[in-house]
Amino acid sequence: MNATTGLSRSALLFLSRQEGLKHAATRLGPLRELASRFIAGEQLEDAVEAVKALNAQGMMASFDHLNEAVRTPEGTRDEVREYRRLLARIDAQGVRANVSLKLTQCGLMFDRALALENARTVVAEAAARQSFVRIDMEQSEVTQATLDTVNALHAEFGEAHVGAVLQSYLRRTEADAQALCARRVRIRLCKGAYLESPRVAFPDKQDVDANFVRVMRVLLDSGVYHGIATHDERMVDATLEYAAKQHLPKGAFEFQMLYGIRRDLQLRLAQDGFPVRIYVPYGRSWYPYFMRRLAERPANVWFVMKNLLKG
Ligand code: FAD
Repeated sequence: MNATTGLSRSALLFLSRQEGLKHAATRLGPLRELASRFIAGEQLEDAVEAVKALNAQGMMASFDHLNEAVRTPEGTRDEVREYRRLLARIDAQGVRANVSLKLTQCGLMFDRALALENARTVVAEAAARQSFVRIDMEQSEVTQATLDTVNALHAEFGEAHVGAVLQSYLRRTEADAQALCARRVRIRLCKGAYLESPRVAFPDKQDVDANFVRVMRVLLDSGVYHGIATHDERMVDATLEYAAKQHLPKGAFEFQMLYGIRRDLQLRLAQDGFPVRIYVPYGRSWYPYFMRRLAERPANVWFVMKNLLKG
């Protein structure tokens, strides 16, 4: 990562956590329009339509109701209600999708027991409907609490109904991957999207990528069904190469990508017969998610600036 890219990434990730901006930004029409490249819409119905279109192209999905760092117990209960509604809709409409949930959405920042109880209610609903909840991974302050929660839910509901996410930028991830695989916890491997200190995360992209490949191999060797989440063709190729070397069938793992990013690659992998799942976010609190997507690619920022100035 060069100095300018690193600086704009840090600035955008800092801005993504500013509550005041969150409310102002979501009211800005042109910004909202730009965010729609990455967000399926503000309502559940919008997301269901997007997922039906993906299903028709041979891809699966994971719905995400956008609302992180919820600050009140009532707010977290609203999130649980939304996820139960979502799981019921998936079941009723027969769409090929599961859900992704953030523990800060369930109250992790102020009450860990409440977060566990809320997440448990969502996973119980998923288990009753033969579905699956992926617990997203957030900033490193909550990594251990998130993994503890996933382990507790996994012990109760089993690998078919709940799974974890690991980020290859964290120094601890290879050890976490070994431990989770030994328990047969399903993992989504991604690079990581938050602002982290070099104390806990590799500052250089090449180390993040090298760790991604190392951990991907641990996952593919484990015999558990995992998700390889990246738009980086070099990571995709390394995965395809390793899977072929290990003689793994195409259905031994899935590729995962974000809504609106590298649609060409999503479709190509699906047409080649690999399971592909698209992460489909929806909801009104799209600001932090949108800012993280901008931070991943400096070209996105220029695109936004140009459009805001035009508008
Ligand atoms: P990069 O090296 O960042 O990008 C490779 C190429 O992909 C770029 O050159 C570009 O062509 C394309 N690309 C990547 N991002 C963008 C973008 N925003 N806009 C346009 N093009 C882009 N992170 C977490 O911290 N926790 C999670 O729980 C989490 N869940 C995720 C779930 C899924 C399904 C995916 C795909 C990602 C998730 N992420 C999560 C985000 C992830 O950590 C990365 O920040 C993100 O995927 C970018 O990394 P990359 O592997 O695509 O590689």
